[in-house]
Amino acid sequence: MNELKFSKETNAKLKSIKEWSPIDKPRVYSFSLLSGFSCPKALDCQTYAVADKVTGKRKVVDGKHSEFRCFSAIQEAQYNETYNQRKHNFDSLLEHKEDAYKMFALIENSLPVNADYIRVHVGGDFFNENYMLAWYMVAKLYPSIKFYAYTKSIRWMAELEYLRPDNFSMIASYGSKEDALIDELNLKSANVVFHPSETDKPIDHNEYYAINDKGSFSLLLHGTQKQGSKGSEALSKMNKENIKYSYSKK
Ligand code: SF4
Repeated sequence: MNELKFSKETNAKLKSIKEWSPIDKPRVYSFSLLSGFSCPKALDCQTYAVADKVTGKRKVVDGKHSEFRCFSAIQEAQYNETYNQRKHNFDSLLEHKEDAYKMFALIENSLPVNADYIRVHVGGDFFNENYMLAWYMVAKLYPSIKFYAYTKSIRWMAELEYLRPDNFSMIASYGSKEDALIDELNLKSANVVFHPSETDKPIDHNEYYAINDKGSFSLLLHGTQKQGSKGSEALSKMNKENIKYSYSKK
C-alpha cells in the first residue's frame, strides 16, 4: 500500500502549541493535500500552484472568486518538496475516493502513532464526504491523539457531525460556497480578518481555539498577497502598526 506522508511541526504556528499544551514537548504533525485542487467548496481563498506546460515551472494562479491568496498554494509554487509531498498524498487518496474504508486504511497505515496533535490539512481540504469520514474513523481508533482541521466543506461537516469523535475538532471556515450553513447550524467556525479591529471574537495565534472546544474565533490574514490587492494593503497596514500576523504556513 502506498504510504502517505506526514510532516513534523511544519510551521511556527504548530510549534506554538507548546505555549499552552499541558503535554511537555508535544509531538505535532500535519498532513496536507494540494491546495485549491482539493478544496471544492473554497471561494474567496481558492488559489493553485500550477506547473507551466512548457517550462514545468510552477506559478500561483488565483481562483475565479479569490479575494486573497492561500499561502499554502504559494508555498507549493515555491518549494518542490512541499508540492511533491502534497501531490503524492492527493493522488494516492484520489485512487480510492469512492471508498471511505480504503482511504481510512491508507491513512491509518501511514499515521505517526506517537503524535499528540495532528493538524489535518495545512494545505488542502476535504475533497469529498468519504474522505472526511475516513479521518473520523482514524481518529476514533486513536483517542489519545488530538486531531483538528479547518474546512470549507460545510455541508459534509454538518452531515457527519453525529459521527465526529470527541478528539477531532472540526472548524467551519468562512469564505466557502456554503457559508450560509455555518450560521444556520451554529457550527464552530473561524473567519479571516484583515485587521484585529474587524472582529469581536478571540484571535487564534497558536491553535488554542482551533484545538480546544472554546467556540468560534478569528484568524489574521497572512501570507504573501497580490500587489495592489485588498490583502496586500491590509498587510502593509498591519506592518505599520506593528501587529503580529505572520507565521510561515497556514
Ligand atoms: S485556504 Fe484552504 S481552502 Fe482555501 S485554497 Fe487554501 S487550502 Fe484550500
